[in-house]
Amino acid sequence: MEALTLGALRAEPGTKVTGFLEVPGTAIQMPVTLAQGTVPGPLLSISAGVHGGEYPGIEAAIQTAASLDPQQVRGSVVIVHIVDVPAFHGRNIYICPLDGKNPNRVFPGNPKGTVSERLAHALFSEVIARAQFYVDLHGGDINEGLVPFTIIMDSGDREVDDRALTLARVYGIRYVIRGRVAGGSYAAAAQRGIPAILPEAGGQGLLDQQALQIHLRAHVTRLKTVRGDLRPRPRRPCPGHPGVHLERDGSRDRAGLAPWVRSAGGSTALVSSAPPPAPSSSPW
Ligand SMILES: [Zn+2]
Repeated sequence: MEALTLGALRAEPGTKVTGFLEVPGTAIQMPVTLAQGTVPGPLLSISAGVHGGEYPGIEAAIQTAASLDPQQVRGSVVIVHIVDVPAFHGRNIYICPLDGKNPNRVFPGNPKGTVSERLAHALFSEVIARAQFYVDLHGGDINEGLVPFTIIMDSGDREVDDRALTLARVYGIRYVIRGRVAGGSYAAAAQRGIPAILPEAGGQGLLDQQALQIHLRAHVTRLKTVRGDLRPRPRRPCPGHPGVHLERDGSRDRAGLAPWVRSAGGSTALVSSAPPPAPSSSPW
């Protein structure tokens, strides 16, 4: 086993190290933890705070990094605690306040672009592109109330997509949605051939303990079982809902729908039990 390095950081086998990943051309430093196991295996990369106001995901990354025992790691783990540091400090919804862009729309980024594009490029080139598996933690943004779900990308590569689906199953959130939005972290990873998921739990600017436990439970009890030989379980299409898949889980099916309901302007959205209209776009 060789040491795991990231910028100036270096974790020898059986150790972990915490420091910062600098974003060239900006003053931003992303807090990051590297853990290098003692047994060869895949590199699992985890990020949080691509949206700086999604606290359960950020806290889950911090606690997972703190509790990770490198002696128990098979392979390597990289955890970025917060990607959009300016948005975290500014309590901004979706956007980086330095350029007004949603970082989760500009992956894989641009090293000569705006701040969001540089953030995305640093994360993608240094953390995501090296990984065999990638998990991008989201927590429902400050203006969102949502049912927990996991998004995976339909990249068109069946093997990559099936491994992402299996990773989503391992993560354990009931609803799994297939996303097709370009520029997302998980989408850019999938298009690079890296199985990736975006689990989302939490919202409304709260450090919701139930949402936090969803992420932590997945990390502590499930992700440590991630292996390079992940194989998907059988699945079948959901009639009438092409973005949703059903999976047989014991004696029942599971299905996820993703209606995104928004109020117009500054008004209030009243949500009924009637099916809402399909959104024209989504913020993930
Ligand atoms: Zn988000």
